[in-house]
Amino acid sequence: MNTQIQHDIGQLRSQELVIEEAKVFADQYIRPLAREHDATGKLSRTLINEIAKRGYLGATFPAEYSGLELDPVYYGMLNEEIGKACSSTRALLTVGTSLIGESILRWGTTDQKKKWLPLISSAEKIGAFALTEPKAGTDAKGIESSYEKDGDSYIITGHKKWITLAGIADFFLVIAKNAEQQISAFLVDRNPDIEIKEMLGLMAAKGSHIAEVKFNRVRVPKENLLGAEGRGFSCIVSTALDHGRYSIAWAGVALAQEALEAMVNYARQRKQFGKKIYQFQLIRGIIADSITEIHAARALCLRAGELRKQMEPESIVETTVAKYFSSKVAMKVTMDAVQVHGGNGCYNEYPVERLFREAKVLEIIEGTSQIQQEMIASYALREYYNGKKTIE
Ligand SMILES: Cc1cc2nc3c(=O)[nH]c(=O)nc-3n(C[C@H](O)[C@H](O)[C@H](O)COP(=O)(O)OP(=O)(O)OC[C@H]3O[C@@H](n4cnc5c(N)ncnc54)[C@H](O)[C@@H]3O)c2cc1C
Repeated sequence: MNTQIQHDIGQLRSQELVIEEAKVFADQYIRPLAREHDATGKLSRTLINEIAKRGYLGATFPAEYSGLELDPVYYGMLNEEIGKACSSTRALLTVGTSLIGESILRWGTTDQKKKWLPLISSAEKIGAFALTEPKAGTDAKGIESSYEKDGDSYIITGHKKWITLAGIADFFLVIAKNAEQQISAFLVDRNPDIEIKEMLGLMAAKGSHIAEVKFNRVRVPKENLLGAEGRGFSCIVSTALDHGRYSIAWAGVALAQEALEAMVNYARQRKQFGKKIYQFQLIRGIIADSITEIHAARALCLRAGELRKQMEPESIVETTVAKYFSSKVAMKVTMDAVQVHGGNGCYNEYPVERLFREAKVLEIIEGTSQIQQEMIASYALREYYNGKKTIE
């Protein structure tokens, strides 16, 4: 490893420097492994440790919990740098830092923060967020996983599906319901009563160790309840998905930017009809549209990041807008990048076919595009009614 980019997590460096270093690190160590992660379905453990060593897994956590204290804008940029290089690797941030870490930071007790956040930051424990089930996706409140109280512990039973990183997870943030239909969240250590089956044959996110997970009467100590009982949805899931969505919004910018760079490089070297293809107006139009769309998506992400930094309530809807738009842009630009590559765009010797597959997933995870549209429309119908509010 390049010693220049090795730093002690305990020593905070400027946010700009963290991003500059992350770019160098991603170029040198993450991108070269992206194709292998995709082909083998396995994330490099050495790479995970190197990422943890640089503090990226606790990027937004306070220093007292081994964090880098990045503000939301810089955290977004970190997602872009890592997500450009490898989408499966970026999932470590989306799940560990955003979905789980931010939920613990917001709703955990002091003891829970002290225990779990440094473990996440150091990658001593990799977490997975277990909400979705075979019969409950968008309608997440329809989960059937159950819990019951038994003395000083809870017992969890249920079947989760599509759980990113579950294949290598050391613990799970599990959402379950009791007989009174209260939804609660629990931090559950991996143990023999948990069955994990990796889902092979996925179109994308192949290196993210996505798995089905069965909890067979898993006993969890009462101190592992996260947030108040019955607040698993209104507090934990809402916080987790809001942060997850923000990470995914930047993941869209990342894939689109990576695809743009690939299409520009290809257009500058590929010749047809005795000319470099970038000289054809139709190809130039694709490049121009891609840049314009990416700039717009990045601007929305930055706006959401600024509002998050100010802790503005509007940040939630702006994050949704950013995620909805940037996942669409990722889909469009990666598809155009395949087109610019012609036949080579359909071949895994070139990265764009992988970027195209990864982009599709962003329109589904952390809330599908349709559900984002629902949320944005509800906001508009409330806020823009009768000229009550004008657009800035
Ligand atoms: C790669 C990947 C990683 C994932 N990682 C995780 C994870 O780590 N943890 C986790 O808990 N889950 C995870 N998921 C699950 C993901 O959150 C769900 O796939 C997603 O919420 C959609 O649920 P579903 O697949 O059941 O689709 P469904 O909810 O069945 O939706 C099917 C279709 O119906 C549409 N639809 C549904 N309801 C409405 C409505 N009210 N109005 C309009 N349209 C509607 C949807 O938009 C979609 O087009 C992952 C999924 C994928 C693909």
